[in-house]
Amino acid sequence: MRRIAIALITALALPLALTTPANAGGLDDLFAKLLVKQVKGPNAKKHLDALQAIANANGGTRAAGTPGYNASRDYVAGKLRKAGYKVTLQPINFVESWTENSPPTLNLTAPNSKTYVPNEDFFSFEPSPAGDVTAQVQAVDLTLPPTPTPTSTSGCEASDFAGFVAGRIALIQRGTCAFALKIRNAGRAGASGIIVFNEGQPGRTDAFPLDIGEWRAGVPMVFADFAVGNELAATAGATVRLKVDSTLVLGTNDNVIAESRFGDPRNVVMVGAHLDSVPAGPGINDNGSGSASILEVAEEMALYPVKNKVRFGFWAGEEIGLLGSDQYVASLSETQRDRIRVYLNFDMVASPNYAYKLYDGDNSDNEGSPAGPPGSDRIEKQLEAFYGSRSLPTVGTDFDGRSDYGPFIDVGIPAGGIFTGAEGIKTAEEAALFGGTAGVAYDACYHQACDTIANINDTALDVDLDAIADSVARFAFDLRSIPPRTAPAAAVPLAAKTAA
Ligand SMILES: [Zn+2]
Repeated sequence: MRRIAIALITALALPLALTTPANAGGLDDLFAKLLVKQVKGPNAKKHLDALQAIANANGGTRAAGTPGYNASRDYVAGKLRKAGYKVTLQPINFVESWTENSPPTLNLTAPNSKTYVPNEDFFSFEPSPAGDVTAQVQAVDLTLPPTPTPTSTSGCEASDFAGFVAGRIALIQRGTCAFALKIRNAGRAGASGIIVFNEGQPGRTDAFPLDIGEWRAGVPMVFADFAVGNELAATAGATVRLKVDSTLVLGTNDNVIAESRFGDPRNVVMVGAHLDSVPAGPGINDNGSGSASILEVAEEMALYPVKNKVRFGFWAGEEIGLLGSDQYVASLSETQRDRIRVYLNFDMVASPNYAYKLYDGDNSDNEGSPAGPPGSDRIEKQLEAFYGSRSLPTVGTDFDGRSDYGPFIDVGIPAGGIFTGAEGIKTAEEAALFGGTAGVAYDACYHQACDTIANINDTALDVDLDAIADSVARFAFDLRSIPPRTAPAAAVPLAAKTAA
């Protein structure tokens, strides 16, 4: 019944596409209103029931590397195929296990020799690949002596490595961006080994063991104390032997990528949600809610004669470092990246004590991270307009890269999305705006076993589903508010989930 109705509307609307400019009252508006009518909270709830059943059958979790993840993948891919999408499974890697077999080595070998004490002066980063390399050390944008408060951006920008000689060992200072980002940049610059040393302020001088969740530079890497780094930086022509003796076992999970039949492949509207949970629970709000919502939107708009290609991404391994989205973006060529005109992210959209939070793409809140790439402001405005049309309030949430939009904005793709809150505490002002309980977490079951189907707020799910439908349909027919991609905007350092 539903399908037939869409097919009819599709047939009628198609000739219009050639003549009607997309604007208010245009195709974007027409199809946005239609899609909002079509998507139904109870349909998304059925997907959530299915994800709950999958968790129940698989030890209570759908986390990376578990059968519960693969069952979630199969469920989503099956629904998308049935709806008529071209579905691809993209394998991505994650760390299954890491064992250190013997203490690491860091010796100065020229111009003089010195042996640093392992597991005191320096530690292997977990999960460093094994490796044994002797090479000259090259300092990367160090701030020495250190400033009174942390300011070093050593290794945070690709440009820090402009003069870096491939094959050398990168000497990097701890600072304001994530360790993982420094490591990745060093890997791309061709470092044969990586030493990151503590920044040097009081309380930031020692070395200690640290899991940074990053291994893809493929070279041995250690975290050294400030004294080691300072000494190596001051030694002209310093050459060191760096050795890590470890066993790193990688596992594989799949991203699920689905693409619309219709639409211009040179202009892609990408819509994403992470499909994995944490090991502790079934992850029905985080992020069954986002996954179920975009799946319902995908199903309902499958036959729309969209102007722009619509691509849905269900990400693997978000909870262990945005691995699925990050490896997806890394796999794209420059041209393929440029074709993604907007990226819409939905991670937790039905929190029990919800607030309607929109990623602060224009940094109008002037809080935390800067504005997103140009166009991010337009995405925020468009979502805002939807809630406004229902006389519903919204608030901003810092664009901090804490979900899968991070890797997209890092390469200059404008992004936006909805978030109903996680472990943060609802303020009195927010309780006045949205109802619910002030002084209590938006999601008291965040990352816990109790993030079950009972942890879903049906009102928030329903409203956010409509907002997602509205925004996806509008961009699917009209991207004129989004500036054309030129050079990637200055990379916004990924705050990530790893400690800086
Ligand atoms: Zn999440």
